[in-house]
Amino acid sequence: MVSIFYSIVLLLSLTIQPEKINLDQNPLEVVIITGQNNHNWKASSKWVEKIFNNSDLFNATLIRTPIKGEDMSMFKPDFKKYDLICMDYSGDYWPQETQENFVDFIKNGGGLVLYHASDNAFPEWKEFNRIIGLGGWENRTERHGDILYWEKGKIKKDKTPGRGGVHGKQGQYIVYHRTPDHPILKGLPSSWLHTKDELYHSLRGPAEDLSVLATAQQSRATGGSGRQEPVLMTIKYGKGRIFHSVLGHVGKNSKNLEAIQCVGFVTTLLRGAEWAATGQVTQKIIGRFPDNNNTSLWAN
Ligand code: ZN
Repeated sequence: MVSIFYSIVLLLSLTIQPEKINLDQNPLEVVIITGQNNHNWKASSKWVEKIFNNSDLFNATLIRTPIKGEDMSMFKPDFKKYDLICMDYSGDYWPQETQENFVDFIKNGGGLVLYHASDNAFPEWKEFNRIIGLGGWENRTERHGDILYWEKGKIKKDKTPGRGGVHGKQGQYIVYHRTPDHPILKGLPSSWLHTKDELYHSLRGPAEDLSVLATAQQSRATGGSGRQEPVLMTIKYGKGRIFHSVLGHVGKNSKNLEAIQCVGFVTTLLRGAEWAATGQVTQKIIGRFPDNNNTSLWAN
């Protein structure tokens, strides 16, 4: 009886093993931090967890902070257990110890990915603003840094004083790649139509060691700046790498996830995450990539 049992176990393990991919390679461990955000963070963080866990390359864990106004003193995730932090968070300040651990994690080579309203977080946390490069809202002004935009092949700075962070009416827009040879973008179409989303503009920050990977434009008539705005960025901080995507609006009371279902969003998030964690990108393009006339949703 026992030998029959072991034979079955052996048979099962023999049939299952060949289907496993990357047996000799551990997945990159990602921790998604969420729990507060003026967007539907419950829906967006679940979706992003699914994006990561659908890829053989990542293993994602979701951690929620206490809700707004509750005691934050016990929120002390062990960042060192992970290769990468993915932020879907904008809300109450983390405890001092957690802030220091977050900075040390990135300074010592840990990766960070943030998207959309996560760059609204922590306006008065100086090192956080250095880490994310640019941010918006929450009383950001010229105190936080200049406005960046793209013109004639390079980054320009607007030193006009005023608020940091504006967006116009939602709509589809074309994302233009400005560094097509960067590992995150290499091999992708150089421009593509993004699904309906907000387009942030007039973001402000220290923008040290920041590269603009892609830009997009919205006319003043619909509340845009009329300029090419940074939408995908990388920042280097200490030994750490950061991928910052401003894409990905999911309305607070909305179940519409189309901005984060866009194959362009999903692909650049995954590739940005791998680059932030390892400095290289080995992934193939998933699904049909959008072109200049057609959006494309990742329907997994
Ligand atoms: Zn939004």
